[in-house]
Amino acid sequence: MIRTVLGDVEPEVLGITCSHEHLLARPPDWMAERDPDLVIDDLAAGVVEAAAYKAAGGGALYEASAIDYGRNVAGLRRIAEATGLHIIACAGFNKGLWFGNQVESWSDNELTDHVLREVTEEVDASGCRAGCIKFGTGYNRISRDEERVIRAAARAHRRSGIPLHGHTETGTMALEQIEILRDEGVDLAHMGFAHLLRNPDPFYLEEVARTGAFICADGISKVKYFPESVRMDAILALCDAGFAGQVLLGGDLARRSDLYSYDGGPGIKFIISTWAERFVRFSVWRGREREEAEALLHNFLVDNPKRYFDVCSAY
Ligand SMILES: [Zn+2]
Repeated sequence: MIRTVLGDVEPEVLGITCSHEHLLARPPDWMAERDPDLVIDDLAAGVVEAAAYKAAGGGALYEASAIDYGRNVAGLRRIAEATGLHIIACAGFNKGLWFGNQVESWSDNELTDHVLREVTEEVDASGCRAGCIKFGTGYNRISRDEERVIRAAARAHRRSGIPLHGHTETGTMALEQIEILRDEGVDLAHMGFAHLLRNPDPFYLEEVARTGAFICADGISKVKYFPESVRMDAILALCDAGFAGQVLLGGDLARRSDLYSYDGGPGIKFIISTWAERFVRFSVWRGREREEAEALLHNFLVDNPKRYFDVCSAY
């Protein structure tokens, strides 16, 4: 069962799923003023973006904007109603840079209860429940409050069965996040790491995958960091090591200039409309059979999200 903004659905109905995207977000004022490109708060544009993704073959997506990043779950609900797209909303928090001192005055139990309410009752008076719990850490560092948020997220996960999503800054601190999650008794089969491929170190990626966690190859199309071939080779190395069942895909397009609906590019539809075929051709170029590459894509976009976002029983 997958928890979407329009209610719980069977995993089979999701279809092609991008596992880290943004449709509506308004980051804190200090950041919005400094970098207005990050403000994506136009509901009509969100509908256009989601409809284009759906027309390209998309069935579902995880919208990874948390409360401290200015999410709009009521808006996501309207996008889902308008387009028929299955949208999974985000509970928990992003990272210390965004939540600042907002959680300082909350007790550990208050933090856990807050996150639990977002996934079991309602998120932001939207009439919806979130279907994934986020936490995050800084670049090569975990602050005290970030650790408290990880523990609260882990406890809310164990009581609700809602999967976990860890933001890693430039791909760092995944193993340290894992240590805290293990200390909280989390089964890492319900954990997914974001942005790890910003650090496309095959040894490191394999160490994380060996814990059973999902790895979201997000940032697809962002060749400002490195060529697409680096990302594709990192993905294929994970597959060669036996972890094709743990790879997820996402664009993590969070800027107006990234989104088709704001006259930017390439838009959320890009992974399906363009990248998927490029991945197949790249795999063939690396010596694989076309059918094998297509089967891998099906894993990343359909089978793996279905297992990752599935709500497990509480434990
Ligand atoms: Zn993101």
